[in-house]
Amino acid sequence: MYSAKIYQGTVTPKQKMNNVASRLEKILATLPTGVQLVAVSKFHSVEAIKEAYTAGQRIFGESRAQELKEKYAELPDDIQWHFIGHLQTNKVRMIMPYVALFQSVDTLKLLSTISAEASRIGKTAHILLQIDVAREETKFGFSKNELYEAISSGAFSNMPNISVDGIMGMASNSDNNDFVRSEFETLSQIYNDISSKKIFQNFKILSMGMSHDYRLAISCGSNMVRIGTDIFGEREY
Ligand SMILES: *Cc1c(COP(=O)(O)O)cnc(C)c1O
Repeated sequence: MYSAKIYQGTVTPKQKMNNVASRLEKILATLPTGVQLVAVSKFHSVEAIKEAYTAGQRIFGESRAQELKEKYAELPDDIQWHFIGHLQTNKVRMIMPYVALFQSVDTLKLLSTISAEASRIGKTAHILLQIDVAREETKFGFSKNELYEAISSGAFSNMPNISVDGIMGMASNSDNNDFVRSEFETLSQIYNDISSKKIFQNFKILSMGMSHDYRLAISCGSNMVRIGTDIFGEREY
């Protein structure tokens, strides 16, 4: 429905679905208290999301504006939708009413668009600043220097409809645990530093860790993990 990639797994969609609840429960059982789970449902069906919802999951992550909007329309109202992908400024208006947390704010231009659209509909937009510590070409986000420059230049003041709730980051896609750990530790240090300076009122989320590295991320201080594959299996399209 959303793209041309065809699901080619070895289990049928039906078998897969029955696994969702049990995989979810297994993961939840291992998460320490205080660590929130975002079930990353991008490229997965409404049926798979319903399975997780029935098992109690309420926070879901999507990375495409159109897909989030369509799923919002088909699924229960008490789901909190997190936007986790690269967001073009011209898509902000479309999803503003439906997004509980914009996790991937990666430029000041995007931030000011979110601010304007939030104020247009009289909403407070909750956001995380995406920090790029991996510096892989495929990754987005503020560098540490850019973030501190933006803070000291007052870029975040005069945005009454924005609540900066924390930071989000991704480690390099690497088997080298020490390397990945050092990137998570950098994110954690930035998070702790900004927290201790009390720059933002509601600053409390350190979102890091995906299916293959969330345990390591938690050991470095993550309090929000974004897990897709380990819950839903390989992406369906
Ligand atoms: C897709 C995605 C995830 C989930 O990745 P999995 O490996 O499927 O767990 C987490 N965070 C972001 C930003 C993503 O785009």
